[in-house]
Amino acid sequence: MAENPRVAPRARFLAGPARSAGSGAFDVDAARADFPALRQRVHGRPLVYLDNAATTQKPRAVLAALRRHYVRDNANVRRGVHLLGERATAAYEGARAAVAHFVGAANAGEIVFTRGATEALNLVAQSFGRAHVGAGDEVVVSEMEHHANIVPWQMLCRAVGATLRVAPVDARGVLDEAAFAALLGARTKIVALAHVSNALGTRNPIAALAVRARAHGAIVVVDGAQAVAHAPVDVAALGCDFYAFSGHKLYGPTGVGALWGRAALLAAMPPWQGGGEMVRSVGWDEVAYEPAPYRFEAGTPPIAAAVGLAAAIAYLEGFDRAALAAHERDLLAYAADGLATVPGLRMIGEAPDKIGGHSFVLAGVHPHDVAAVLDGEGVAVRAGHHCAQPILRRFGVGATVRASFGLYNRRADVDRLIAGLAVVRRTFDP
Ligand code: PMP
Repeated sequence: MAENPRVAPRARFLAGPARSAGSGAFDVDAARADFPALRQRVHGRPLVYLDNAATTQKPRAVLAALRRHYVRDNANVRRGVHLLGERATAAYEGARAAVAHFVGAANAGEIVFTRGATEALNLVAQSFGRAHVGAGDEVVVSEMEHHANIVPWQMLCRAVGATLRVAPVDARGVLDEAAFAALLGARTKIVALAHVSNALGTRNPIAALAVRARAHGAIVVVDGAQAVAHAPVDVAALGCDFYAFSGHKLYGPTGVGALWGRAALLAAMPPWQGGGEMVRSVGWDEVAYEPAPYRFEAGTPPIAAAVGLAAAIAYLEGFDRAALAAHERDLLAYAADGLATVPGLRMIGEAPDKIGGHSFVLAGVHPHDVAAVLDGEGVAVRAGHHCAQPILRRFGVGATVRASFGLYNRRADVDRLIAGLAVVRRTFDP
């Protein structure tokens, strides 16, 4: 695909020098100081925020970028001929380039800004899907998908007469690769998989699964919502065709996310929403569309949020990612050990390769009651079905408690969680 001249270089949003590059150390206390929200007390206790899989807190760098944008550069993009319009457009296109660099895209034209992972997945289903999937074809997903990576495919399959096939997971929450492979065939048009499960924490071996899927000519769509904050993503190494994620799970603002797609696929895809900005010319009898990615961005895009997302990416890339990953691994293992000491606790999801957090149930206490008592102790966790009802049913539960970690969490936060669970047990005396 030809470089679009309107796509600005990414220089503006390149991360500064890595804070701890080469040192192999991650200073969690220094990082915590970047997040004003963490300083508050809730119900009289210092906040322990363990609901990062739902959304992350925002560092000062992101808050400052949003403020700077609204104070200085606020204008609509790609239309104004005035200076603010030029600045806003440069910032928005710079953010696109930053996202491209962040996921290892070949160029910024492969990045479509969306409202989030959900909209990105719907875009693929409605645009690529309706153009390429027909009656008798099959779409394959895994049993551990979030509803955002199930419902769009159900809608597509119902609309075109295709069939949704589901690859099972084993008792640990690991995808059954043999069963997955057995589902693939000449009818498989799309394989859509979570990079990391939000309900179990399982990381799927996307590169290996993509090789199998592509051998059958299927297109591979990856839901990266739970992966991007925790591990560097390289779409080329993953070998997928589309990659979707949300900014707000990545220390960025709500209201923005991105879809990466192979340039050749995006170029051949029809638009899915119509409106301003995605058209070159409109008459009563004809309409000419802009090329990708603009063709997929009808209306005023999330300009400020994209600028905030670029700041979040720069913030994250400012850390030594290997050191950060080691910190998060330590936290996950420390939490697993701590949770194992809690009487009556059953872990839901025990994959050897886990990322981000733990889901569990406590015998005799509803997850919502667990979360309510923990909230009273100042510990914020999520309770519910996590928009992944099929996989919870697979484990015979309707809801779990989920404690999920961000870069700013410490072992002391895990200690507060475990102490809070002791209070839960005393409260309910199960
Ligand atoms: N996929 C996964 C695995 C998720 O965890 C989430 C958010 N919970 C989504 C998709 C949807 O993300 P969003 O609501 O930001 O569109």
